[in-house]
Parts: sequence; C-alpha cells; structure tokens
Amino acid sequence: MQKVKNCPQYPDDSGWYGSLPAPHIEPALAGDIAVDALILGAGFAGLSAAHRLSELKPDWKIAVVDALPVGMASSGRNSGFMIDLPHTLDSDSYTSSATGANDLDRQIVAFNRSAITYARELVERYNIDCDWSETGKIHAAATAQGAKSHAAFKRGLDALGEAYTSLSGEQIQAVTGIDYYHSGVHTPGTVALQPVAFVRGLATHLPANVSLYENTVVNGYEWAQPHLLSTPNGQIKAQHVLLCNNGFGAMFGLYKNQLLPLLLFASMTRVMSGQEQTSLGGERQWGLVPSHPAGATIKRTADQRLVVRTGIKSGHKMRYDQTIISHMKAIHTQSYKRRFGGQLPNLEFEYSWGGLLCLSRNEGTVFGKVGRNLHAAICQNGLGVARGTASGKLLAEQVAGHDSELLRQYLQSPRPAWMPPHPISTLGVMGNIWRHESMAGAEA
Ligand SMILES: Cc1cc2nc3c(=O)[nH]c(=O)nc-3n(C[C@H](O)[C@H](O)[C@H](O)COP(=O)(O)OP(=O)(O)OC[C@H]3O[C@@H](n4cnc5c(N)ncnc54)[C@H](O)[C@@H]3O)c2cc1C
Repeated sequence: MQKVKNCPQYPDDSGWYGSLPAPHIEPALAGDIAVDALILGAGFAGLSAAHRLSELKPDWKIAVVDALPVGMASSGRNSGFMIDLPHTLDSDSYTSSATGANDLDRQIVAFNRSAITYARELVERYNIDCDWSETGKIHAAATAQGAKSHAAFKRGLDALGEAYTSLSGEQIQAVTGIDYYHSGVHTPGTVALQPVAFVRGLATHLPANVSLYENTVVNGYEWAQPHLLSTPNGQIKAQHVLLCNNGFGAMFGLYKNQLLPLLLFASMTRVMSGQEQTSLGGERQWGLVPSHPAGATIKRTADQRLVVRTGIKSGHKMRYDQTIISHMKAIHTQSYKRRFGGQLPNLEFEYSWGGLLCLSRNEGTVFGKVGRNLHAAICQNGLGVARGTASGKLLAEQVAGHDSELLRQYLQSPRPAWMPPHPISTLGVMGNIWRHESMAGAEA
C-alpha cells in the first residue's frame, strides 16, 4: 500500500464556516466497507459527482470520504463566486481572448454555465439556503493599471461576444457606498453564494445510496481490482475511485511536478451594526473582483459583514500557520482601511483564514480516466466553485457511461504542463507572485 504523504489540515475556521451555526457532522469511517464507487473529497467536485452518480446509478453503493468536516477545506474558504466567464489568474486581465476569441475560453464558458445550471437545479430541488444571488460580478479599478486591465478584459469579452456594462466610479459607489474606484465592468452571469452553506446543503441532501464519512483521512492507497484505501479506523474496497481532491490528487501519484498549489487569504468583519450600515450606504449585498487578479476581492455578505480577500503565497507545503495569518491580517487591515477606513473606522475583523487552490502552468486540468476504474476531476485552476461543480458532475457521467457533447469536449482539455521540481518551481512561482502583486499596486 502506498502512503499518502500530505493531507489537508487548517489551523483556523473560515469566516463562512464560523459565522454559520455549528453543523451536524457525519461520523468518521469505523470498520471496513466495500462499495461500487468511492468519491474522495467532499468539496464542490466530490459532492456534485456524488449527486449525479447516484442519479445515474441508483443501485450502486457509493461512499464519499473527506479528511475534514464538509466546508472546512477550500470549498468553504473561497470568495463564493461561481464565475461563468474565463478567469485566467496568471494574466493581467483574466482573459486570453484579448487578441481574438480563443476556443479554450469558449469551452470554459459553456462548461462553467453547465455548473451554474446544475447548481441552481440542486439549490432549488433541495431548497438550499446559501444566499444564492444571480447578480453577476463587478470588476473594479482604482489605478491606471486597472483601467488598462479592464480595456484588455473588455476586448476579450467583445471577441467572445459576451455581454457587459461599463460602470463609472459614481455607479460603483452607488452599489458599494465607497468612492475608492474610478471605473468598473459589470458582467451579468456570475452567481454569488455562501460557499459553506452551499456545500453543506449538498451534503445534507445526499441521496440514500450515498454514505458520507467526515473527518476520515485517506492515508494509504493501492490501485488494484478492487482498489484499496486505508483510513485510520477502516479500509475501503472500491470498484471505482473518483479522485475529487484537487491539489491533494498529487499525493495519490497523479501528475507529479505538474500541479501547482497556491495559498490565498481572506478576512471577514463582524456583522455591521444598523448605524454602520447607514454610514456605509450602498446596496445590502455585492461583490467586487479586482481589475488585476493579484488585487483584492471585496464582498458585502447577506448577513452584513465585509470580506477582504488579498495576498498570495506559494502552497508547496500545502498548509500555513498562525504567523502567516497574522501577517496576512495586517495586509487585509491596510486594504480595508484604504477603502472603508473613513466611513467605518471601528469595524474589526472577526475571522482571518487561508486556503489552497490548484493551478497548472498552462491552465490544463486533470479530468477523466487516469487508471483502470480510476477517475479524477482535479486542478480547477482557482475557479473550482464552477469548474469543480461541472467537472464532478461530468466525471460521474463518464463513470456511468453517459455520453454528451460537453463531456467529449472536456475530455479534450489540455493536461497540466510539466514544471521543474521544488525548489526551482517554487522560486519561479514566488517571482511570478511578486510581479503580479507589484502590478496590482493599490488594487490590493
Ligand atoms: C481565499 C480563496 C478564494 C477563492 N475564491 C474563489 C472564487 O470566488 N471562485 C472560485 O471559483 N474559486 C475560488 N477559490 C478556489 C476554490 O475554492 C477551489 O478551486 C475549490 O474549492 C476546488 O474545489 P474542489 O471540490 O475541486 O476541491 P476542494 O474544495 O479542495 O475539495 C477537496 C476535498 O478533498 C479532501 N481531501 C484531500 N485529500 C484528502 C485525503 N487524503 N483524504 C480525505 N480527504 C481528502 C479535502 O479535505 C477537501 O474537502 C478560492 C480559493 C481560496 C483559497
């Protein structure tokens, strides 16, 4: 049996997790089980795969395992944007279509929209209360560099034939209450949601032939017939395994030196008092994406908190500690003060946290069959809210033998490109982060 060398571990709760009531947590696996399909990972990809596989194979016994409680890992640590459009993070303007429509971008749009359709269907079917809001997203610019990024972003949208509205600084202020930004671009198709409430809702409503085991780390594996997976208190025999564990897929022998883990960080304030809400003005719920990918994402949540997401670090250790969080919280405080300090000088952060995402050098992904009865939907390139949801669903369809045009297209996606091993790749990543952060300037 091969040992899994690195498993998910976080020193804190995200604000999305901590600000919800304490959840019911399913017991960890205790004893041995045999299943038709094991889904490893209960994030966007794993839970979407579980719902779809159960629909297509109602007679299969399916298990979902996660090292942590649902919503504790990256699926509960993100900014909650289910984005429909291309959103290339390693670019200065999110698009690779600025010089002409690119087929990969068109495919990504269709793919992301399939995620939104499926997620909406599940939210409506199970009445999941997750602040689902189809209000789109605003890209906001505060600097001259930001204006340049927006010009390139809009050229990309024009090339793809996608709708958008240009916004003035006053129009952004009418939404947000702050006069920090000089211009913006609104794109209508993105959905905003409370990510922990969404994945918890999916987990709570798993169909009867799916068993969920939380706090169950898979610490060993043997790819055989059936596959064998070990956990601290029980072994799993599975005819099929679906790896839905994003960057941690590399710990299961997949795509060594091709998956690039990064850490992003965020802080969330306490709930604003009525008086603070009046001082801020603007609308009650909104989300801003920075004009440059290394800038700050800012949100006002349905329960009246503000969230600042900025700061990037190499994730080669796949974890972080409290020292890093203290440093990031200081950066978030500066970012907050520049935007809200005048109107809300005493609104303090209640939560600060980090989380992992998985990129590849060429926006490639790992999807489909990766061994005999072994399947994977990993490397979501930082856009896992949509891509995780869509790729989990499609992976289940492939396992169940259900064909579609979208599946055939997604199977053609490029695989992650090779990178030199650590520490060379990590030094390269740190250089790239530095370059992006310098360009972002006051957008951060
Ligand atoms: C601060 C931040 C902001 C972000 N904002 C956005 C955003 O607005 N929009 C967007 O689309 N994306 C965003 N992302 C990225 C997004 O969160 C991820 O792409 C997404 O969570 C990936 O989903 P997933 O289901 O593929 O993987 P994950 O959410 O990582 O789920 C994988 C699961 O596998 C489990 N697992 C791993 N290894 C094991 C093991 N050995 N045993 C058992 N279980 C295991 C983990 O515990 C985890 O629950 C953001 C990320 C961060 C950190």
